Amino acid sequence: MKIPIKWQKQTKLLLIIDNPFLISIFSSPQKFQASQKLIAMSEKNIEKVRNIGIVAHIDAGKTTTTERILYYTGVIHRMGEVDDGTTVTDWMKQERERGITITSASVTCRWLDHRINIIDTPGHVDFTIEVERCLRVLDGAVVVFCAVGGVEPQSETVWRQADRYGISKVVFVNKMDRIGADFFNVCKEIKEKFSVTPVPITCPDGAGHNFSGVVDLIEWKHLLFDEESSGAKVISNILQPSLEKDCTPLRKSLLELIADADDEAMEQYLKEETISVERIKKVLRSLTIKNKIVPVLAGSALRKKGIQPLLDAIVNYLPSPSEVPAMIGYSPDGEKVEERKSDIKAPFSAYAFKIQDDAFANQLTYLRIYSGSLKTGSTVLNSTRNRKEKVGKLLLMHSNRREEIGGAVSGDIVATVGLRWTKTGDTLCDPAHPVVFEPIRFPEPVVFRAIEPKFKADESRLDEVLNRIAGEDPSFTFKIDEETGQRIICGMGELHLEVVVTRIMEDYKVEVHVGKPQVAYRETVTKTAISEDVFDRLFGGKQQYAKVKVEVSPAGRGEGVIFENLWNEPRLTPLMREALKESILESISSGVLAGYPVTDVKIKVIDGEFDESRTTDVALKVAGTGALRKALNDAGCILMEPVMSMEIIVPMESVGDVIGDFNARNGKIVNMETKGGTQIIQGTVPLRMAFGYANELRSLTQGRGVYTMQFLRFEPKG
Ligand code: GDP
Ligand code: MG
Repeated sequence: MKIPIKWQKQTKLLLIIDNPFLISIFSSPQKFQASQKLIAMSEKNIEKVRNIGIVAHIDAGKTTTTERILYYTGVIHRMGEVDDGTTVTDWMKQERERGITITSASVTCRWLDHRINIIDTPGHVDFTIEVERCLRVLDGAVVVFCAVGGVEPQSETVWRQADRYGISKVVFVNKMDRIGADFFNVCKEIKEKFSVTPVPITCPDGAGHNFSGVVDLIEWKHLLFDEESSGAKVISNILQPSLEKDCTPLRKSLLELIADADDEAMEQYLKEETISVERIKKVLRSLTIKNKIVPVLAGSALRKKGIQPLLDAIVNYLPSPSEVPAMIGYSPDGEKVEERKSDIKAPFSAYAFKIQDDAFANQLTYLRIYSGSLKTGSTVLNSTRNRKEKVGKLLLMHSNRREEIGGAVSGDIVATVGLRWTKTGDTLCDPAHPVVFEPIRFPEPVVFRAIEPKFKADESRLDEVLNRIAGEDPSFTFKIDEETGQRIICGMGELHLEVVVTRIMEDYKVEVHVGKPQVAYRETVTKTAISEDVFDRLFGGKQQYAKVKVEVSPAGRGEGVIFENLWNEPRLTPLMREALKESILESISSGVLAGYPVTDVKIKVIDGEFDESRTTDVALKVAGTGALRKALNDAGCILMEPVMSMEIIVPMESVGDVIGDFNARNGKIVNMETKGGTQIIQGTVPLRMAFGYANELRSLTQGRGVYTMQFLRFEPKG
């Protein structure tokens, strides 16, 4: 539906309604009314929204496929090519300098009267946590596989992550034009690896050089993609007899699957040996949303073939926000489970999934609204931080422009300006109906580097930039070293910090010196030790007293710090207990060996002495930490280092060299697998031995090897 632009000269009101939800209003007295009306309208239209992500292994063709989607949906008017450096993603930097945000955390496009929000899932496989954070706000995903490479390990990881969030999927088997492309092999691998039923809904006509188009197994048509119009024109023909013969078995098994799943379809099938197109689509949709099957399509993004059927499939089979299960959260005290169904009349709730600076130096907070509605200017509760926030502008992000909207409703993905306290992973909600959604747990930063501005005058600017980056990226932290005054940046890997440093210099234009990457160690204890300490002094004009006895003992790997207070003293008030706990946990953040945080340790306060008139918070705190530090000294502290799990994919001829180098880095191989002429090596390696690996692997494999690395656990330093 397209409603024309209205210009009201006197009031300088520009109203663009290009679909019932979305409205651009610049300085409008009718803002409120309009947004009310829109909200009422969108209630009926939430069925027509798809929040999806496109996920793929590196090089499977995600960027190319996205580019085609944006072109055919009319979002961009020139089709770029990865290989010429002209895709939307590649323009980003340049466009930003010119003041337009071209890629954003989500891009909105329209197809078949539906709105598709494509949420950007990052390509950097090193940052699986980023992918996880995005999966959380998706209702469905398009998984792109290469027809030659098939189900590669990284896509396995993402697929399983998506399963954990119950996300429905549609598969696009890309690169059908490549020699060795094998559509059915990819289907077979999906079935074997994920124990799910892949259901081809288009089938390739030919493969490799002979790949010419696809057969639509539902409509039972032969589809060709007109080259002159860059594939935009789809030519639909009836099937030639030979093709019909080839595809009949596939069509038959599709019909049988549908008939088995649905009584009405079964009746039709038995009577007429066919099932209506509407019925097939309906049953497929319901099976896909229940995650019982995955529709599979064939195509070649590079050759501009098979993209429109994929767009159809997104609309036809992936769920709308109202078809996914309710979001589960808790009351702020954590006592009660709270459910938020995608219902515009329910209390407002939303999840902040990304924070980003835009070209106008505003901070944009991207929200996925789960229930209720949100209006410009309203006050909401950040229930994660227990702070009220006022919502400034609400924006829809298209690829090259932003549209101000008056209101947004459950199921929507919008950007907001003006939130002050909200960080990635926080919940926003109606202050009268608080709910907290489970935050994403971020792994601990394991690498750090010292950083300082080249020019002293940039110091406060650098702090500001570091604060911003930390706000956007929860796996990045920084601190100021109290002894040297240096800033220390901490992240999840060497590459992660490299990306951060590049952003500081290029995006924020602060010139910096950085130190070498260093490993963040931990300390732990090897045996049980018990110690006590007494505080008995004149302090603050008063004699104060406490005696505390503490036991420390090793905990399991990865258990962190477990604290218990077993001191059975009725006169200890809850406040005193809290003070004692806090001071002990604070003290444990720097160990007795080299000052690294202590982890995988059980700490018990087992006894003490309390004096009615003289025992205070302060005395308890000092005695508690004193006892703890003595116990740590006796508990055989050792250093622990981060160990990473690594997956390396290399061509056969470099396997020997890569393994030799991996062993020299104290790497331990866990699994080896050969696949389509490449070797997959999975193993673990201490992080300190993995610095510079990207360069080394490049030179060992003439640039053909790839690897991914993730923090696994802390282990005693070898
Ligand atoms: P991404 O890493 O998943 O984003 O993949 P890209 O879209 O950047 O594509 C990686 C490489 O594969 C590029 O050189 C593309 O030109 C190429 N490519 C993408 N799609 C196809 C396809 O359908 N056929 C062929 N032969 N190459 C493709
Ligand atoms: Mg890409």
